[in-house]
Amino acid sequence: MTHAQVPVAQNEPIHAYAPGSEERRELKATLTRLADARVDIPLVIGGKQVRTGKTFNVTMPHAHAHVLGQAHEASAAHVEQAIAAATAARRGWGEMAFPDRAAIFLRAADLMAVKHRALINASTMLGQSKVAFQAEIDAACEAIDFLRFNVQFAQGILEQQPLSSPLIWNQVDYRPLDGFVLAVTPFNFTAIALNLCTAPALMGNTVLFKPSNTAALSNWYLMEILREAGLPDGVINFLPGDGPTVGNAVLASPDFGGLHFTGSTKTFNALWKQIAEGVGKYRQYPRIVGETGGKDFIFIHPSASEDVDAVATAIIRGGFEYQGQKCSACSRVYVPESLWGTLKGRLQGMTAELKMGDVRDFRNFMAAVIDEASFRRASGYLERARKDSEATVVFGGGTDGSRGWFIEPTLVQVQNPRHRMMVEEIFAPIVTLYVYPDGKYEETLALCDDTAPYALTGAIFARDRQAIITASRMLRHAAGNFYINDKPTGATVGQQPFGGGRASGTNDKAGSALNLLRWTSARTIKENFVPPTRPDYPLMGAE
Ligand code: NAD
Repeated sequence: MTHAQVPVAQNEPIHAYAPGSEERRELKATLTRLADARVDIPLVIGGKQVRTGKTFNVTMPHAHAHVLGQAHEASAAHVEQAIAAATAARRGWGEMAFPDRAAIFLRAADLMAVKHRALINASTMLGQSKVAFQAEIDAACEAIDFLRFNVQFAQGILEQQPLSSPLIWNQVDYRPLDGFVLAVTPFNFTAIALNLCTAPALMGNTVLFKPSNTAALSNWYLMEILREAGLPDGVINFLPGDGPTVGNAVLASPDFGGLHFTGSTKTFNALWKQIAEGVGKYRQYPRIVGETGGKDFIFIHPSASEDVDAVATAIIRGGFEYQGQKCSACSRVYVPESLWGTLKGRLQGMTAELKMGDVRDFRNFMAAVIDEASFRRASGYLERARKDSEATVVFGGGTDGSRGWFIEPTLVQVQNPRHRMMVEEIFAPIVTLYVYPDGKYEETLALCDDTAPYALTGAIFARDRQAIITASRMLRHAAGNFYINDKPTGATVGQQPFGGGRASGTNDKAGSALNLLRWTSARTIKENFVPPTRPDYPLMGAE
């Protein structure tokens, strides 16, 4: 059956986990169960679990002595086995009718929405240190949305067919790529890990999935859910381990067909260079899709003077939720002098109310940064800021790595708008702020546009419509996702397709048809029902 109509996608409702609710009880019970278990996470190659014996510990960032389990690491030889498995599965998967492929991912979405919601949320909370609300909007809602909306977008692509003419029927066959896809995924969103491997698979590709080691727990459960949903063996192969070990072995294969990446700009640049060096070796020009770092901004116009609570809330939610570890996290703010005094007080007051700690205590707004390396990096910025004559720590700045990797929500004011804290991605709950003279709105917009190499997200707060128009025009290329009177985080699949330009990535918009188009290689088929039978044309006849 090829003419099925896929269900109309709708955003998965966010559960509230209110005190006394059944969903809260189930989530808490699952947190206790997972915290007490020591999971042994294998590779998955051709549908088989592979235990390599070389392992790393999976720990809780907010209680780093607590080991949740161990994960096995892939070697180059395992990558070769995974390539063989992906190659073996390619034909059957690529030829499976679209409604059958789609049904597997729709079933996975429903398994996550109902049966495994607590599991996928709890594993994300414990392993990646997300508080319940942050896990719910990522690991449950966004992941489910990616699966459901991608099915709908894919059907829209398949329906796009060329014109035909008398005696001729033209068709486009949306083939998978002529090789496997490598999905390399970041620690910070369980949903992104799922999307990076399932979007190419939905379009008929087979995939090697390199998860982030610090997200191994939740990502392992994603694999289990996909298996339960009926994903055939070899379609997605799971390869935790050292990045370069996996990357080098994958990129050596002539059958490498595409990279679906989300992570840091540095890693993406290295992979892009390595792929470029392999051109000529690969059987096709590989598709390269990458969403990378950000230095996301909130820009405030003086006309937002009556909206200071909204501005402060946007800075706090945008900058401190998930400990500032969203690629879209607000990390630089431009404030007009006239509003700075009021805003400062409001930010101090609101932040003082926020609690930080273990994700199992639902009163906490924030938890820990992902690992020791991240903790040290963020601590380094804070130490330098304290000694820097161009910087003032307005509040926060404290760190405590004794039990968990905790960084206090911090606001730093800089005198120099091109200070490195206004330029570099820090990936921690540290917001840097520059106060500009009210009369220099356009000059400061120009500064905002060319200060950082990134262009992922950004927001303007203003009541004056002309100020909004000016900001939108002058910052047109400064953000792939631009927000008006809203925080720059929290893009929703199907509503705000996500991605940025410049050093933030290839802007192929995760959660949209634009992304899925990268995973198909169209074949045009022209069929002539009554082909001509003589080579000359009528005009060549005798006068
Ligand atoms: P990272 O670059 O450190 O790691 C990403 C992945 O790359 C990991 O799985 C890692 O093991 C792997 N890797 C590293 N070297 C490799 C190699 N040579 N070959 C193959 N794989 C390799 O990033 P991270 O710390 O996990 O994630 C945080 C970064 O991701 C931030 O910069 C953030 O802005 C970015 N991010 C961007 C978006 C977006 O949509 N633009 C979304 C989420 C995260």
